Amino acid sequence: MLMSKPQVLFIAGTHGNEINASWLINQWIKKPEIINVNDFEVVKVIGNPEALHNCKRYLDCDLNRSFREELLNDDQLALYEIERARELLLNFGPKGLNACQIAIDLHSTTSSMGTSIVVYGRRPADLAIASLLQSRIGFPIYLHEGDDNQKGFLVESWPCGLVIEIGPVPQGLLNAKVINQTKLALNIFLEELGKLNTKKAFFPDKIRVHRHVKSIDYPRTVDGEIEAFVHPSRQGSDWHPIENGAPLFLKSDGSVIRFEGSETFVPVFINEAAYMEKNIAMSFTKRETWEFSKDWESAIYSILSL
Ligand SMILES: [Zn+2]
Repeated sequence: MLMSKPQVLFIAGTHGNEINASWLINQWIKKPEIINVNDFEVVKVIGNPEALHNCKRYLDCDLNRSFREELLNDDQLALYEIERARELLLNFGPKGLNACQIAIDLHSTTSSMGTSIVVYGRRPADLAIASLLQSRIGFPIYLHEGDDNQKGFLVESWPCGLVIEIGPVPQGLLNAKVINQTKLALNIFLEELGKLNTKKAFFPDKIRVHRHVKSIDYPRTVDGEIEAFVHPSRQGSDWHPIENGAPLFLKSDGSVIRFEGSETFVPVFINEAAYMEKNIAMSFTKRETWEFSKDWESAIYSILSL
């Protein structure tokens, strides 16, 4: 059977106030020559155009938590983002009219994450791509899993998909550095995909993963009011390990709330503006080194029908 060429979905503006990647994608749509796609078919789309227009994260609910079977299949649910999720799947989902096999979802963060890769769970093909990107340019990998409060991420609806998260940048602000970082990440991803296509991809022996353990809220009063903010020594120090006694928060009276625990954690998404509403001040991860698995390699080749 003749297989059609694999197609990659590039999506930005899944959150409407993350405007750097959206700007770049819109430029790329108008000027295809600004990014070389090698032999791959690519689809470029704005995830949440209404929210982008309003420079809001979302209108009714978070699009990047809307890709859950129970929401998508609930005919009574007419929220804008749920309908948009259905529409994206209908058009570009793995069984869509213009089917894509890989989804790259471009985000920005107010946290000092640099350029990082977020993968959801341990899907072999996602880990294969993440391995290629990390070995090529050292992007840290945040493995999000085991969090019952955070589900329904867009890329999980595609056979292979990951998030590229870049920061720090305020919401709703174009920033040269972030646009350049986004463009660089896209170029490198496409080059690595090109190497897969010619079977010249170099997979590392090991990868370094930051495995999600838990998220913590800001300290609050019994009334739910935030009573301490992120400590200045913690602000901007994403990816830096913390141990027992490390300062986490500062109160208005100058007293310090410290991390207590026998384990070493690596905090990420420290003081991310969008997570205020989710009661998340930062997330704790464990830094782990994983052996590269041949299964990851065969999974990505199988998705690409190579
Ligand atoms: Zn986002």
